[in-house]
Amino acid sequence: MAEPFDIAVLGAGPAGANAALEASRLGCRVVMIDEQSHAGGQVWRAKSAAVLSAPETPETSAGNQLRKAVSQSAIAHLGDARVWQIEQVPEGWSLQILVGGRSETIIAKALVLATGAREFVQPIPGWTLPGVIGLAGATSLMKQALMPPGHRTVVSGSGPLVFFVASEIRRLGGTVAAVVTPNSRMDWIGALPSMCRRPDLMWRGMVWMADLMLARVPIFWRHAVSDVRGEDAVSSVQISKLGPDWTPLRTVKTVTSDSVCLGNGLIPALEAAQLAGLEITHAPELGGWVPKVAKDGSTNLRGVFMCGDGVGIRGASAAEIHGKLAGLSAAEFTGKQVGLQKNRLYARYAAASSFGLAMTALSVPRPGLEKLATPQTIMCRCESLSRDQLLHEIEAGAASTNAVKSGLRAGMGPCGGKFCQTAIARLVASTKGLEEGAVPPHTARPPLRPVPVSALAGDFAYSDLPIPKPAPL
Ligand SMILES: Cc1cc2nc3c(=O)[nH]c(=O)nc-3n(C[C@H](O)[C@H](O)[C@H](O)COP(=O)(O)OP(=O)(O)OC[C@H]3O[C@@H](n4cnc5c(N)ncnc54)[C@H](O)[C@@H]3O)c2cc1C
Repeated sequence: MAEPFDIAVLGAGPAGANAALEASRLGCRVVMIDEQSHAGGQVWRAKSAAVLSAPETPETSAGNQLRKAVSQSAIAHLGDARVWQIEQVPEGWSLQILVGGRSETIIAKALVLATGAREFVQPIPGWTLPGVIGLAGATSLMKQALMPPGHRTVVSGSGPLVFFVASEIRRLGGTVAAVVTPNSRMDWIGALPSMCRRPDLMWRGMVWMADLMLARVPIFWRHAVSDVRGEDAVSSVQISKLGPDWTPLRTVKTVTSDSVCLGNGLIPALEAAQLAGLEITHAPELGGWVPKVAKDGSTNLRGVFMCGDGVGIRGASAAEIHGKLAGLSAAEFTGKQVGLQKNRLYARYAAASSFGLAMTALSVPRPGLEKLATPQTIMCRCESLSRDQLLHEIEAGAASTNAVKSGLRAGMGPCGGKFCQTAIARLVASTKGLEEGAVPPHTARPPLRPVPVSALAGDFAYSDLPIPKPAPL
């Protein structure tokens, strides 16, 4: 067996890549694994080869700097590699990785989990139609392929991402039919004191808004898209006015469009942390369920560290600093001297977090939003389960996400619950009259990502298969 690495870092976004860089700088043998080909994560996603010559944006230049630093370091960077299993072994931690169609094992003394976030999309009628795309998902499409989601797009969602996406669509030549956000102008005014801590980011937000206003894009404050209509693809959307807790009140407008971006905030991607055995707790101000992690990235599991949006949605700047902290902590665990380096980062981490958490507070869905789903709305896309079917199962006694999963297979499809389980947990909670924090996500099970059986079976000839003797009659 190959010599174990000192540190394996899962995730090459701002958090993971910075953790790997810090640890490698201190002389640790580091492997960094990510299912994307290049470092940068969601926010600093690399452009695809076909559009490399396109003009730089703040995201591409930050990403290019990071990728340069990684390529000049001694980090072993495994791109296009999906971690599907995590286990504790006598040497430390073992990761099963799907890479090049084969499953490989990597062993390291310490593990840094930097798995980031995923977006929450509130299910609404018509959200499964072709032409509907996640709001955060749209940023991936635009960054990687410089392609707007359609010709005429309604952009709907909470927090700052809705304005970024709308302004990017315009920059790439698309038309924004409307911007729809459940936030009110007063919500934004309330966030101003925290936003002032990052004038550079506040200025960017003002530029997006000015662009939309100059182009006379209608902005619907305290509204949501309540119905996406079309036969085989999106043809129009209905927009509804929301109450203070985001309960839909009445439909106010129909807007024609061929595409819709929908998103209702980000949630920490937890499944790797859960599989490793980290305890989780409910913290709505951090985006939902989060693992218990100290501010220097250490956890109560020996040799496991975690950083970035996976421990709470604080944004890219905080993820970068938290990554450094976790990298230093992991290096310290392997016996390196880090002196006072961590102390110098705590104040910067607090300042960056303050801005990120204010944006998260704007994005977290309020309870009324759930009412956008009608009885026939599909909530589990993989198994085509409607709200009514789920409700029936819950009313029949299923009181947890695990129970709904074993009863109806909700969360057992290819997405492994990544799309549906937050909405299902909220439905369980509201139906049973429980707090959201009383209904945790379902237990994480391998594989974390789909694995073809051929990757596990390897190459074999049928003639080599042992054929058992016929049983005696
Ligand atoms: C789709 C999406 C788009 C976003 N776009 C923006 C944006 O435009 N602007 C902005 O300010 N914020 C954006 N965010 C928020 C942004 O992700 C964070 O603030 C920031 O990137 C957090 O950095 P991170 O390193 O913690 O996580 P990430 O950047 O998310 O990095 C986590 C990495 O872990 C990898 N990973 C996770 N699990 C596995 C696994 N099992 N196997 C292999 N690899 C794995 C992922 O591929 C990813 O590259 C977006 C979030 C999402 C979900």
